[in-house]
Amino acid sequence: MATRDDRETPARRPGSSASGWSARASSWPTMLGVVLVGVLITGVVWHTAPSGSPTGLVHLYYLPVIYVAAFVGPAAAAFVAILAGLAAGPLVPVAGHVSVTSSEQPVSEWLVRLSLMVVVAVVVAWLARRQARPVDLLVRDAVSARTLRGALASGEIALHFQPVIALEDGRVAGVEALCRWTDRSGRSVPPAEFIPLAERTGVIHELGAWVLRTAVRQAEEWSAAMSETPTMAVNVSADQLGHEKFRALVAEVLAHSPIEPRQLVLEITETAIIADREAALATVRAARELGARVALDDFGTGTSSLAQLAGFPIDIVKIDKGFVDGVDHDPTMRALVRAIVSMAEALGALAVAEGIERPSQLAVLRELGCPFGQGFDLGRPAPAGAVDLTPRTVP
Ligand code: C2E
Ligand code: MG
Ligand code: MG
Repeated sequence: MATRDDRETPARRPGSSASGWSARASSWPTMLGVVLVGVLITGVVWHTAPSGSPTGLVHLYYLPVIYVAAFVGPAAAAFVAILAGLAAGPLVPVAGHVSVTSSEQPVSEWLVRLSLMVVVAVVVAWLARRQARPVDLLVRDAVSARTLRGALASGEIALHFQPVIALEDGRVAGVEALCRWTDRSGRSVPPAEFIPLAERTGVIHELGAWVLRTAVRQAEEWSAAMSETPTMAVNVSADQLGHEKFRALVAEVLAHSPIEPRQLVLEITETAIIADREAALATVRAARELGARVALDDFGTGTSSLAQLAGFPIDIVKIDKGFVDGVDHDPTMRALVRAIVSMAEALGALAVAEGIERPSQLAVLRELGCPFGQGFDLGRPAPAGAVDLTPRTVP
């Protein structure tokens, strides 16, 4: 069964993907390192050669030392530091020739400089190792986060909407807003790549606010044009959920919108609940007090226990595609889906089956009493103007 973590794997280590944006991001630190070292050595030798003694420019040798310490490791960094110390000491070229004995520097002077370089190498490498995420990936993330912010500002990010269908009569009960990013080269970057990146780098707060505002504006348009308005579900990341700013944002957006607050559904995950239960609970309570509803997304893929979920006010339980996949041919999956639908009922929540791809799944889900469904068989995510909001024919 595909879990949320599986889906996030390529984005957690962007360099692991061989394609497009990730591959381009992964090669630049190495290239930069090679260029940096080349420019430094040429520049410093050129300046020091005529005088035969090092100028202040030799301090630039700290750059490759720090670079190697941060990106490669302590042993390589110490090696580069010793080389740099020697290059700035006894190996300073005199009139274009390298001669260990010709240096006019006292031994104590260059030995102190060399030792300092080794200390810097070891300390920087130690600090780099203490990071939970390797430094090169942190740097890559920082660059990618800039790209993502730029994409948001320049309109490269859009929302698509996927219908949620009432399985009893086929009407479109709601839609889920899903983020799409088409980058400058025309490549469609999957959410499984850029959402975890946004989460790691904090861009999720800007992105999430944009998603919420844009989705609610779209819901307003549909409200004005339709007699029975579908609900609008928005995915909320763990970091957003735990943040006071997000509570204020939901309150502000609902206060300035003519839509009924119950039209807004916040989709949260078990992971978000576990991350910081108290903060998540505070946000969920605040949102429900305003009248919005809360859905537990991808139910069954997290590591939460039923005890952790008990006491958590939930209006909708979304049954993960992993269970729905086998519901029409695997008795175990069928039994599990039946149990989740009953559990949702017992909690006073509505169940939505995710990832319905075949009419046979739909038929079984109806038989099991699952009230709502979502999936490619019922409607793929599409831009607002292309979403089919007409009732479906259900078996
Ligand atoms: P999700 O919230 O569980 O959304 C459902 C995902 O399943 C969507 O993938 C949707 O396109 C896909 N899907 C729906 N029906 C089917 C089906 O029948 N078959 C298959 N194979 N897939 C189906 P998508 O759009 O790639 O989004 C992936 C995840 O990225 C979402 O999972 C959600 O966790 C996250 N995401 C997307 N947009 C946002 C956003 O605006 N904010 C946040 N925080 N997360 C988002
Ligand atoms: Mg969702
Ligand atoms: Mg889901």
